[in-house]
Amino acid sequence: MKINEKDYEEYIRLKRKEELRKYAYDFWDYLSRNIYILQSKYPPIIFTEKYIKDENGGVTTGVTSTYDSGNGNQICYIIITVKDEILDENIQGTIRHEILHLVLRYHGLKSDDNCAIFKILCENFDGGFYGCLDEVEEAIYNHSCSYINKAIDQVKRSNNIKMLNLKMLINEIGNVKYDALDKLNQLFHSINVLCEVIDMNSKTNL
Ligand SMILES: [Zn+2]
Repeated sequence: MKINEKDYEEYIRLKRKEELRKYAYDFWDYLSRNIYILQSKYPPIIFTEKYIKDENGGVTTGVTSTYDSGNGNQICYIIITVKDEILDENIQGTIRHEILHLVLRYHGLKSDDNCAIFKILCENFDGGFYGCLDEVEEAIYNHSCSYINKAIDQVKRSNNIKMLNLKMLINEIGNVKYDALDKLNQLFHSINVLCEVIDMNSKTNL
């Protein structure tokens, strides 16, 4: 059977989206196995062939949206632009970026483009951070970054006990209650306690 050119183009487009979807599922699965056990097996992700409007009226190629389902539940999903002129590796970067937003949002943590925990995760998982930290987030970033990098490094060579440490660290660093400089001593104390455990683990696993 001969397939016409239009059908063939459609087949190529679908195939590309399926490959990108698999890429998203694999990254989600990696985070689920190594950091958080995520409630859903697959990330909610929609591919579109249009550019997307961001909240400032600009144009973007990826967005994580949340809406109220009406019964008190919030539904989050990711929209990703797939167009011929965008390279696959750029789309994969956008997928990682949006999935990191979604994972933090699912856990009720700080999750926007301008928070320390998002910057740290982007740096470790190649998520293309482009935000800007304010004074509070900058202080959190400077204090936490080396500890969490070490914990992620452990996870990359890992077992489940270390995953628990990393999860607790992320939960603390991303906690919305740390929203002012005078609240950060409590955070830094709790990071120090968690990191003593991480240091002990790394010594026993040399
Ligand atoms: Zn973003």
